[in-house]
Amino acid sequence: MSRASPPIVMNFRRTFALLIVLVVLPSAGLSGFGVVAIINERAAVEKRLEVAWHGTLEALAEELPRELRQGRFVKRNGAWELISPEGRVLSSVSFEVSNGKVESVDPAVTAALTSVLTELSNLPAEHTVFSLPVGGHPELIATERAGDMVHGTALARSEVEALLTARADRYLASPEPVRFTLLPVPRETGEGLVNRLVSEVVQARANALGPPVLAERVLAPPLQDFRLVVLSTGEDPVARASTRNRVVYAVLLGLFYLTLTFGVVYTGRALYREAKLSRLKTDFVSLVSHELRTPLTSIRMFIETLALGRLKDPAQTQEVLQMLTRETERLSTLIERVLDWARIESGRKEYHVERLEVPQIVEEAIAAFRAQRLDGGVELKVDVPVSLPAVQVDRHAVAGALLNLLQNAYKYSGQDKRISITAQVEGRWVALAVEDNGVGIPARERKRIFERFYRVDNLLTRKTEGSGLGLAISKRIIEAHGGRITVQSEVGKGSRFTLKLPVDKA
Ligand code: ADP
Repeated sequence: MSRASPPIVMNFRRTFALLIVLVVLPSAGLSGFGVVAIINERAAVEKRLEVAWHGTLEALAEELPRELRQGRFVKRNGAWELISPEGRVLSSVSFEVSNGKVESVDPAVTAALTSVLTELSNLPAEHTVFSLPVGGHPELIATERAGDMVHGTALARSEVEALLTARADRYLASPEPVRFTLLPVPRETGEGLVNRLVSEVVQARANALGPPVLAERVLAPPLQDFRLVVLSTGEDPVARASTRNRVVYAVLLGLFYLTLTFGVVYTGRALYREAKLSRLKTDFVSLVSHELRTPLTSIRMFIETLALGRLKDPAQTQEVLQMLTRETERLSTLIERVLDWARIESGRKEYHVERLEVPQIVEEAIAAFRAQRLDGGVELKVDVPVSLPAVQVDRHAVAGALLNLLQNAYKYSGQDKRISITAQVEGRWVALAVEDNGVGIPARERKRIFERFYRVDNLLTRKTEGSGLGLAISKRIIEAHGGRITVQSEVGKGSRFTLKLPVDKA
């Protein structure tokens, strides 16, 4: 039945909308969460590296001033040099301070030292290392005091870094290629948000241009103008880790949405089918009740007529009895069909297969068809050659399916009914065809008529009794035998239903 039953469809729509809301909202939230996680990814990886390098930097920051203090001052060619225990020359610009006067070849060094003369005169006697701004940039300065004289040297940063790298080998936190360096601590460009922002942008650009900074630590006073920095000399590990995580996330997200879409479509279809089926069932119940009521009413009327003893003529009595028989037959056919369907649906239907000649099946179906006294105004032509190969089938089930085709051909034809049954071999099949000159079936309905409870909605069908189960049962029966059922039809001209059964090879 194709009549719409609004409450069930509405229910389906509401349930489906609820499903979408329940599924889409959390998944949108989840995706948003993922996007935020990706945005925070870089910061998280940086933090992890920072933590990994923390110990190394701590140890090196402590060791560096000690190492530098272990160097010896040597005067060579009139200039002071600082030599590390391994013999590395760490100095760059030599100077001497005596009588409140600084002497150096570099005027910037002279100026910087002059500005801290008081502190210089208070230096302890032993070898000291500190940082000092020289010409706008901090420099490492090593000094030694001998009586009133102070001598010393600005240190060559590259040499100090080489020293660092040699020491750092002991503390490597990861196998990636890295380099240690000393960089000036960025000076606050001034108070205020704008200045801070500007300095952050400058810093970010410097980081983006140079090798990626893995971790850093500001040195303790008196080297507080410098920070100890670990630079990656290979591929940027932050970028690598976050790219990998992004790819993993994108793939997972893709998979998630794929399964989600599949799930929603699948559930939606299942829901829709259920809704449709429940509508069909409701229709079926009212249809069957109606179909039962009509013969029951006639039966009651006939019985009342007989009981009242109004019929004097034995011929009339005979006629009423015949009608009674026909009505009860209709009732039992309908009930039988419903039970048959229930058996097939629940998988309880059993087939007793035997080797049969095709004419035997056709005869059984025609006999049943004639017994229903449907053959009144019908011209039935049968062309079934005896030479056809045998088939392995359940006699009653297949004859029942053929009978159903004959009944339909009869029911859905006009006054002048012409039905033909033909059989022939088609490859490995025996094809049994029932053709009529009836109303025909529109193309879009041809597939659906095999669905349970489905009936084409037209005037003739409404006038004709039926349950919409006949073809569904026939299809199940034929398919259970490894066969097929097909239909060809032309509206207004007629239909041709074909049962194809596999030839018995034995
Ligand atoms: P029923 O005949 O009890 O309604 P069926 O499953 O046998 O149920 O058939 C389903 C529908 O297919 C019928 O309601 C009818 O509309 C259509 N149909 C079946 N056979 C024919 C036919 N030979 N000619 C036209 N329509 C047919």
